[in-house]
Amino acid sequence: MGHAAALTIYDAVKKFGWPEPGSEIISRELLLGDACNARCIFCCAKDLQDKAKWLSEEIILDNIRKWADEGAWLITFSGGEVTLYPGLEKISRYAKRQGFKSVQLLTNGLKLKEKEYVLSLAEAGVDEVKISLHGSDAATHDYLMQIPGAFENALIATQNLNDAGIKASFNFAVTSRNYKQMPLFAKLAGLELGVTGFCFMFSFYSGGMLEMGRSLGISYSDALPYLRLALKYMKAKKIVIESKMLSNFVPCIAPELVNLMSDWGSSGPESKSQVGIGNKVRIVKESYPERKEKLPLCSKCVYYDRCYGPDKGYVSIYGSSEFKPLSREAEHFPFETLYP
Ligand code: SF4
Repeated sequence: MGHAAALTIYDAVKKFGWPEPGSEIISRELLLGDACNARCIFCCAKDLQDKAKWLSEEIILDNIRKWADEGAWLITFSGGEVTLYPGLEKISRYAKRQGFKSVQLLTNGLKLKEKEYVLSLAEAGVDEVKISLHGSDAATHDYLMQIPGAFENALIATQNLNDAGIKASFNFAVTSRNYKQMPLFAKLAGLELGVTGFCFMFSFYSGGMLEMGRSLGISYSDALPYLRLALKYMKAKKIVIESKMLSNFVPCIAPELVNLMSDWGSSGPESKSQVGIGNKVRIVKESYPERKEKLPLCSKCVYYDRCYGPDKGYVSIYGSSEFKPLSREAEHFPFETLYP
């Protein structure tokens, strides 16, 4: 029997009733716990894994109900590693029943090698799964995840998602080991696998990223030529950019890409997003002061009022010379997103 193709964003809108492209993404994310079955070398939560425990079911269900009442239509369950949470199907089913149009998981994908498990997620109402895929070849991804066979596993997981009618997408954490692969990754994901919902995440410099410093990190200046090439390639091949796909950037690094950047300032749609961590619920932007900090020169920048500033850990390794105040906002954006 043949395999199914990946669901496109347009397929998902039709099949799951997601709001049409152009609509505001009203999302909530719930971190179920820190337990994980991988040991990615860049992980920013490495030191939390051993103390990991799950949120109580009562807190999970309360949040789902509350957020649905507030009008959110996308809920993301993340961790740690969500597929280790024993009640995942139950809470996914509950979220769909409460009215969420989209139930999304963030996962390392290891457990999705099991076809039956993926089918059970589809049956429970999970409609999008973001798998961590950090390279365009096995040597790179397996090394970064510290698991031999992880790349092959991710490809099988993607196929299982396609076959189960769940939309697959990817998160790519940019490091010194893989930054040159961004164009190749765009080809692999967008063209060969038909998966367009992928993000390039410039890692937060805490945990493994901070410990390994320059041996694992990469400066924005070194990574940008490869990022720009990847984006040009996507445009040439008509690979759509579904939504903001660059994480942990600030506008002055690449002003023309600001419309692709998430999590840099208080004016972005994700800044209103709420995240449940433990028994506390926080607005996303409230967690940034721990990680990001404006520099003295930021006071001269047009984005000063909105920008949270660069990642503190990044500045401790690479310094502040790449961050230059902007006198005016960018007006021309060479790449567009389907959802703002
Ligand atoms: S406020 Fe600072 S970090 Fe933000 S864009 Fe301006 S110069 Fe860059």
